[in-house]
Amino acid sequence: MPFDTSNIYVLYTGGTIGMGGHPLSPLPLERLATIIESMPGFRRTDSGSQYRFDLTVQDIANRPYSVRFTLDAFADPIDSSSMTPSQWCRIALRIVENYPSHDGFVVLHGTDTMAWTSSALSFLLQGLNKPVIVTGSQIPLQQTRNDGLRNLITALVFAGGATNREVRVQIPEVCLYFNVDLMRGNRAVKVNSSEFRGFESPKFPPLGVAGIDIAVNRPLLLPVPRTAPDLLALKQRLEALQAGFQDFSVLSLTLFPGPKQGPIASDPSLLGSMAKAMLDGAVPPIRGIILEAFGEGDAPNDPDLFAALKEAHDEGMVIVDNTQCLMGSANPNAYAAASGLKDAGVISGFDLTPEAALTKLIYLTGVYGGEPDAQSRIRKLMQEDLRGELTPTPR
Ligand code: ASP
Repeated sequence: MPFDTSNIYVLYTGGTIGMGGHPLSPLPLERLATIIESMPGFRRTDSGSQYRFDLTVQDIANRPYSVRFTLDAFADPIDSSSMTPSQWCRIALRIVENYPSHDGFVVLHGTDTMAWTSSALSFLLQGLNKPVIVTGSQIPLQQTRNDGLRNLITALVFAGGATNREVRVQIPEVCLYFNVDLMRGNRAVKVNSSEFRGFESPKFPPLGVAGIDIAVNRPLLLPVPRTAPDLLALKQRLEALQAGFQDFSVLSLTLFPGPKQGPIASDPSLLGSMAKAMLDGAVPPIRGIILEAFGEGDAPNDPDLFAALKEAHDEGMVIVDNTQCLMGSANPNAYAAASGLKDAGVISGFDLTPEAALTKLIYLTGVYGGEPDAQSRIRKLMQEDLRGELTPTPR
């Protein structure tokens, strides 16, 4: 019989799952609570001003078990396209504040930037040994035909550590659950804006799959930390990062076949002048760059672009070579055309997704950016596997 009466904290940040109207916009928490209450299997058990629910589900042998949860929200649920790095910290802080009294966490979030948030949370919440499951939907819960109900119920089940065969599986990591797949949060990408299979984890197998059976692939899970997290230290770090994340940014620069103003290699190019203009004029200032390069991290042989990147590197920025491809890894050593990237100080992001690369660089810059050896430290950590986000492939 699966673990009974796990106690989950659900944070509604906005997103289609809780939206209504036309065009869609986020409903307030009270309205979402009423919608959830009307769904089969949910019973409202409010306590004081807290929205509380009991969800009854059945295991594979049709035996009922319950998941208890508190539904909470920020005062201003948003469309996730307005998400910011400081808001990632706000979400993480709520989880830390509710950590001791809950067994697991579900974050209801818009799909548009869900993969950035789940990646960011995986770095911000290092050391936690309880599951954090980020989910949402393509059709609002309010509509009769929706994918939100299934996503919400299964996310709650995974957050409670239940599968429908085993007693309890401890998932000590941030995951993104969507459609049928439980994915590592920093490996998931949005691949479809119209279908229920909105996310995939193209470079790492799913950690779990929810079909008739709800199964977790235990050998793939990160190890459970041996010691309990220091919540006070984590809270202080998150508060400092939340403030610091307002003061800088990391630029994501997609390479594309752009024009040049003349026929020879050293003639000015659009990419070079774009990179320079973006780096020079940005407010708040840019402190790092994720290059979304071609194929194996390849770039046009463009001295203008290389010069702009070298200047950024010499000013202390960390520049990461990443691939635009949905699968595979970046290797700036593979082609002569990209040797200018290496000379400009660019490092490989291996198989990081663009979302994981950006959030990891923001996180590391926030934590180490003020230290004297910041650039070398961040360069080193960018190429290490911190939370299962990359597979280094030295060549
Ligand atoms: N624009 C919505 C959001 O990201 C899309 C969604 O949730 O599916 O909040």
